[in-house]
Amino acid sequence: MIVLKSPQLVQETAVRWKKEYKVALVPTMGCLHDGHLALVDIAKQFAEKCIVSIFVNPLQFAPHEDFERYPRPIEDDMEKLEAAGVDLLFAPDVRDMYPSDTYSTRVISNGPLTQALCAKSRPGHFDGVATVCTKLFLATQADIAVFGEKDFQQLRVIQQLTEDLNLPVSILPHPIVRESDQVAMSSRNRYLSAEDRALAPMLYQALEATRKKALSQPRTTVGELLQSARQLISNPIFQIDYLEICPERTLTPAEASVPLNEVSNPRLFVAAKLGQTRLIDNLSLKLGQP
Ligand code: AMP
Repeated sequence: MIVLKSPQLVQETAVRWKKEYKVALVPTMGCLHDGHLALVDIAKQFAEKCIVSIFVNPLQFAPHEDFERYPRPIEDDMEKLEAAGVDLLFAPDVRDMYPSDTYSTRVISNGPLTQALCAKSRPGHFDGVATVCTKLFLATQADIAVFGEKDFQQLRVIQQLTEDLNLPVSILPHPIVRESDQVAMSSRNRYLSAEDRALAPMLYQALEATRKKALSQPRTTVGELLQSARQLISNPIFQIDYLEICPERTLTPAEASVPLNEVSNPRLFVAAKLGQTRLIDNLSLKLGQP
């Protein structure tokens, strides 16, 4: 596995590869788990060359968030990527990505996709994500980039970014990879105390119970479904940041009075704090989805 820090060197390598091969990118912030590695597996199925980036991007963290303490076990990550058959690890430092004191350019995501859900409590977050992903796409010249549905709003923002700017990269979504107790895998799960980790499955259980109710009674209103979900996510264990049902395309929260079967491709979204850790999860409420 080649390991590079410089965007210019990555670009030179990718330009060479692209004469013969398709190139896939899996962007990550490291502290890799099996969710990330599932994205790598899919990337390798769609392209002959697989690049993984590890970069904890300061632009997407607010001052009070966990940029400094975000886990960075780079040696472990390198072992996992080597074993997974990754061709190139792009692991820049902040100064490699934003090198000069005159760095000025941002990609702004300003539309319905960044009005609700995580955009409310994390202002500027998706502009940071859009900016870094644009730089990663250009550095790696990726034909394909794989994103997890764990961060469904991020996935939609990036799909819209590539459509809006006609970026020549296809975005491949991957379903959420879960632990055996159905908790969505996340690098931040390691912040949870043992007691809180034992309570974490309640979040998914509430989503799943709501999905069952939605599927058996599709004319139930959005408000009724959200109310029953809210009751299941027992307070004060979880402090709910948001709980919404949105159409997948626009991510504009559906009105409480609307029956679920009038929401196009509905998806249930939750963000909640457990102890000091903010967890997010989501589940499709489409009829016929597993
Ligand atoms: P992160 O390192 O948390 O920025 O995540 C990098 C990529 O991996 C993003 O596209 C995430 O959505 C994806 N990802 C993280 N956790 C999971 C998971 N449990 N299942 C599927 N994809 C995931």
